[in-house]
Amino acid sequence: MGPRLLQRMNQPDAVVVGSGPNGLAAAITIAQTGRKVIVFEAGPAIGGGVSSAELTLPGFVHDVCSAVHPMAVQSPFFRTLPLAAHGLEWVEPDVQLAHPFDDGTSASVYRSMPRTSAELEADGAAYRRVIGSVVEAWPNIERSVFRPLSIPYHPLALARFGLKALQPAEQLARRAFARPQTRALFAGIAAHGMLPLDRRPSASFALVLGAMAHVAGWLVPRGGAQKLTDALAAHLRSLGGEIAVDSPIESIDDLPPAKAILCDVSPRPLLRMAGHRFPDSYRRALERYRYGPGAFKVDWALDAPIPWRAAACSRAGTVHVGGTLEEIAHAEQEVWQGRPAERPFVLLAQPSIIDPTRAPDRRHTVWAYCHVPHASTADMLPRIEQQIERFAPGFRERVLARSVTNTADLERRNRNFVGGDIGAGVSDIAQIVARPTWRTYSTPVRGLYMCSASTPPGVGVHGMCGYFAAKRALSEVL
Ligand SMILES: Cc1cc2nc3c(=O)[nH]c(=O)nc-3n(C[C@H](O)[C@H](O)[C@H](O)COP(=O)(O)OP(=O)(O)OC[C@H]3O[C@@H](n4cnc5c(N)ncnc54)[C@H](O)[C@@H]3O)c2cc1C
Repeated sequence: MGPRLLQRMNQPDAVVVGSGPNGLAAAITIAQTGRKVIVFEAGPAIGGGVSSAELTLPGFVHDVCSAVHPMAVQSPFFRTLPLAAHGLEWVEPDVQLAHPFDDGTSASVYRSMPRTSAELEADGAAYRRVIGSVVEAWPNIERSVFRPLSIPYHPLALARFGLKALQPAEQLARRAFARPQTRALFAGIAAHGMLPLDRRPSASFALVLGAMAHVAGWLVPRGGAQKLTDALAAHLRSLGGEIAVDSPIESIDDLPPAKAILCDVSPRPLLRMAGHRFPDSYRRALERYRYGPGAFKVDWALDAPIPWRAAACSRAGTVHVGGTLEEIAHAEQEVWQGRPAERPFVLLAQPSIIDPTRAPDRRHTVWAYCHVPHASTADMLPRIEQQIERFAPGFRERVLARSVTNTADLERRNRNFVGGDIGAGVSDIAQIVARPTWRTYSTPVRGLYMCSASTPPGVGVHGMCGYFAAKRALSEVL
């Protein structure tokens, strides 16, 4: 950082380390009060886990990390911001999510609950009971889902939700649904949580993300995830906030003096930056924080859409590739036992089918990842492509170029993803209740806060971790 920049940055009220969605949300929350805030970003570009780049060929826009954004659409904080005025436009697929099977059929989730339940045939009523009840209760439980644990606004609605959410996904799916297709659909949504499906509270991910397909939609920003980051950054600047890129912070001692420091980082990088200022007990608590499995990601440039056998998959923004509940549960179990899955569960998005700006000349971009053991650098490309071929024969012939990202690449690009853990820490019951410790956003150092997805309400692009951390800083030191 040059001396001129430092001079300009004289006496900020608050500094934020990291420009992920939570860092930007924290900075905006503080700037909204008229205080001066500066964001320092280690990388050459802003956005952290929300960015886009030409990863394969010129003109092909790929989402580097997050691609599908129901939580951003529904975020109680983002909803209050004028992001559309800063260029953000959401695009919605006809089919929110499709899940193909070996016989050429698929199960689908549409925005419409009646359409979804009708297609699920004998399980339609059960789907309405399981997911539909969460959709109906959403206005009452949203505030509790998107915030740290606290006294609920609607205790009855939350208790009803909690009874289901705390179950293992596998158990709930088997009890609630009769058809293997519906069980597989539920398992695929639950697997986003990166927990084994026989572990509590894996059902909670299926309930929340499943409900969001109806409440918000599994939408993508026109032009790529970067547009969401750019809109947040533009709004921050309009409030007087500043962002400095290429500014890795190795120690919080290097920061300009400020009343509050908010770190959009997970516990391991926080220890490197500020460990010397913490008492032993807090240092040990952060050292005990558990990171989970990693991700292996592939981006493709295609000369035509994926040739899915099931027609609904060709109209879906997101496709869950992994077959039955048993197969998905087995694949996720393998990962937790330290073995890359032979037939991985693949989460795939095909934004260019609804957003032609992603690729030139009516060509296409595809984004996919599977879970792998923590820090594994196993090459999953052949297995991922084999899984896609299984449901879309001829897929490989459409590939113009590929970009592959393993766990080491993920962590190199963003220090928060320790061992390639894109969730910034395991989301099991213990680490949901106390994330990353019972202090949540606060640290023992006055004025120093964490605001990343390693704080409540956790993983995903919603900015609520940053919002609540900033609120705490505003009430305590600003
Ligand atoms: C492959 C992948 C796919 C995903 N898909 C989805 C999805 O489809 N939908 C969804 O909702 N979520 C998805 N996620 C998760 C989502 O991206 C994260 O939950 C979210 O980005 C977390 O935001 P954050 O602000 O907490 O941190 P991050 O986005 O991790 O941002 C942290 C920022 O801090 C910077 N930083 C770290 N240390 C320093 C330092 N010392 N000095 C300066 N800067 C520093 C980093 O460079 C980074 O820019 C995905 C993540 C990955 C990796």
